[in-house]
Amino acid sequence: LEAQLVQAQKMESLGNLTGGIAHDMNNVLGAILGLATAKLAALPPDTPGYPTFETIAKAALRGGKMVRRLLTFARVIPEDVASLDLNAILLEEVELLENTLLAKVRLEIDLTPGLRPVRGDAGAISNAFLNLCVNARDAMAEAGTLTLRTRNVDARWVEIQVEDDGAGMTPEILARAQEPFFTTKPQGQGTGLGLSMVYGTVKAHQGEMEIQSRPGAGTRVTLRFPAADDALPEPAAAGPLPPDEAG
Ligand code: ADP
Repeated sequence: LEAQLVQAQKMESLGNLTGGIAHDMNNVLGAILGLATAKLAALPPDTPGYPTFETIAKAALRGGKMVRRLLTFARVIPEDVASLDLNAILLEEVELLENTLLAKVRLEIDLTPGLRPVRGDAGAISNAFLNLCVNARDAMAEAGTLTLRTRNVDARWVEIQVEDDGAGMTPEILARAQEPFFTTKPQGQGTGLGLSMVYGTVKAHQGEMEIQSRPGAGTRVTLRFPAADDALPEPAAAGPLPPDEAG
């Protein structure tokens, strides 16, 4: 399980890199397509060079499709978007973990019935949750209480909280915890990619992440997702995205 997680984190960071490049590339392609389209609209079709602008526009559109595939791989655009019940996702993951990763941990589960659905990628959210559980387990040196909560916050947000009563973080560590490759764990045990990956997933869902922590008291991570009514728009069929919609 741990080896799989390290592998997943490495893939995700590769994805993040790819996503960053793809995002910038998308803006460049958007500019090329925009200029070519403007020329095509302004020029009479029998102008010399008109077909060249058509070729440029077509090539930019093709490039846009490739960039979209890269953004999907990087999960800047969530892959399998569906209406999700976060309670069900958490319970399913807990079932997998309670006899393995969380075997020595006391679990307290407080899920709000009638939790509003969110639109998102179940696999990506399960992974984010798994990463938070690994961190909680590590912080509690295996024994301790892990509290899982869900609630409807307000008209806009639905929230997951993962809270442990473990070692907690100093303000210095808390400030850096989300940086890629920042880890305080012994070599071979931490990649420093867990929280940055969680953050990436939350951002891809237009959500928010908040971490509260006190040394010796524990840590509470809150993930907020937009309720389904005003969540992710469907990805467009083809072509570059408008600049900055890509993440
Ligand atoms: P890794 O778990 O591989 O170190 P993360 O990005 O998940 O990478 O976490 C970075 C660092 O943040 C950890 O090494 C640890 O110092 C701190 N951290 C994360 N979660 C917790 C937690 N629940 N309790 C205490 N410290 C934490």
